[in-house]
Amino acid sequence: MTGSSERRTFAIISHPDAGKTTLTEKLLLTGGAIHLAGEVKARGQARRARSDWMKIEQQRGISVTSSVMTFERTDADGNSIVFNLLDTPGHEDFSEDTYRTLTAVDSAIMVIDAAKGIEPQTRKLFEVCRLRSVPIITFVNKVDREGRDGFELLDEVADMLALDVCPMSWPVGMGGRFEGILDFASGKVARPEGPSKEFLGKREADAEIPEEWAEQSELARIGYPEFDIDAYRAGDLTPVYFGSALKNFGVTELIEAIAAFAPPPRPQPAEQGEITPALDEVSGFIFKVQANMDPQHRDRIAFMRMVSGTFRRGMKLTPSGLGKPIAVHSPILFFAQDRELADTAEPGDIIGIPNHGTLRVGDSLSEKNDIRFTGLPNFAPEILRRVVLRDPTKTKQLRKALDDLSEEGVIQVFYPELGGQWIVGVVGQLQLEVLVSRLAAEYKVEAGLEPAPFDTARWIRGEAGAIDEFERFNRANLAKDRDGDWVFMARSAWDVGYQQERNPDLSFSATKER
Ligand code: GDP
Repeated sequence: MTGSSERRTFAIISHPDAGKTTLTEKLLLTGGAIHLAGEVKARGQARRARSDWMKIEQQRGISVTSSVMTFERTDADGNSIVFNLLDTPGHEDFSEDTYRTLTAVDSAIMVIDAAKGIEPQTRKLFEVCRLRSVPIITFVNKVDREGRDGFELLDEVADMLALDVCPMSWPVGMGGRFEGILDFASGKVARPEGPSKEFLGKREADAEIPEEWAEQSELARIGYPEFDIDAYRAGDLTPVYFGSALKNFGVTELIEAIAAFAPPPRPQPAEQGEITPALDEVSGFIFKVQANMDPQHRDRIAFMRMVSGTFRRGMKLTPSGLGKPIAVHSPILFFAQDRELADTAEPGDIIGIPNHGTLRVGDSLSEKNDIRFTGLPNFAPEILRRVVLRDPTKTKQLRKALDDLSEEGVIQVFYPELGGQWIVGVVGQLQLEVLVSRLAAEYKVEAGLEPAPFDTARWIRGEAGAIDEFERFNRANLAKDRDGDWVFMARSAWDVGYQQERNPDLSFSATKER
């Protein structure tokens, strides 16, 4: 990989079942990611390729297969583009993990099932993208099946998401009458071929299109705003591609759209102003921490999004949470067939840094320890539970486990000032199940969860004196988080408002940035 190649760092957002996994696989195949190439040849071989891959993971004791997928493409002029596709966990539940992954991308593909339109999870993830004005390319999937009318779908995206839509292609029929996809820019129709009715590369320039579809597509082409790259990059307009991930329609067009339109690595907000990719100093931030698959070891992989500079293996970087430099000797670069140890990485790339719990989500890393990225908050949990230990001799293990899992971002933990009952907080219900099963499996701690007498939590900030004063009267509602920061445990949102009014010198914050 050359240092001069451009980067496109993106994620796919969708509701479960819309086709994210299928599309991801096709993007990797089309994009030429070598580690999946076996799948093109034969299914049996594919399985073998897969399991070889897993063996490597087991040897290294990590599970990172689908966290970051990288492929490279070189165009006719010899310019190369490296695509970094970050996986967003596909839970029904919104989790902080998902949110944080979206802080590490520069753009997103929104996959919609043509029969279903915008579904709840699509919408939630879209809102997260909107918070940061992440540009979105829309892919209307499964047009090889009977779906909803194309105009209806476009209007739904426009209305529900308050976005301008610009169709870039149009299905020639759907379901049983599916005859291909008309690409507006080239005027060519991608045709289904063979018994499987897949797209195998045949595009017709002057294709005969049944009149019904010809009229429709013409209406679609002229009836919507023209594509405007600035509006797209500002997050105000989404180009819409129709296709079928399963049958390989529209996949090449998507890759080409990302190459042509999606923004290169963006500057990142920091305390000292924006940090641009052009800065010489190497900097980045941790957006995800993944624990070891092997319960015997407590190694973790911290995922760092590169913001500036050229990283070289062995480089010393200082994490903001630690204060002293660490030498990054064995970083993992998620590139090409065997995920070679990284020699260099550029802004927009993701590096996996093995560590023993020193690196935390939200940490900034830089060569001179002078950069603090912002906009990577912890969220006040919406669900709080008291942890009940079945075996009281396991208190120490429980504390260790809760600290570890909160470092990883699975849960947040609060240690109340009074009483020994620890409280965990999560943003989505699913995280509670993950907590209980991981406590049992990885820490051999049998624990249950009970309702907590609190409804929400707020980080307290203010002068030490003001906090002391508050503590004198509110000890029953005070806790410390994993970092030892004060947290107000509130019975209700009203409680928060009441305390805020009575304590104007303090702020009660629903987010905390490390
Ligand atoms: P995910 O949950 O979003 O990752 O969805 P998957 O990729 O696992 O797809 C869900 C189901 O839809 C699977 O049975 C896929 O085979 C099917 N599917 C995905 N894409 C298409 C498509 O373009 N056409 C058809 N007919 N089925 C598809």
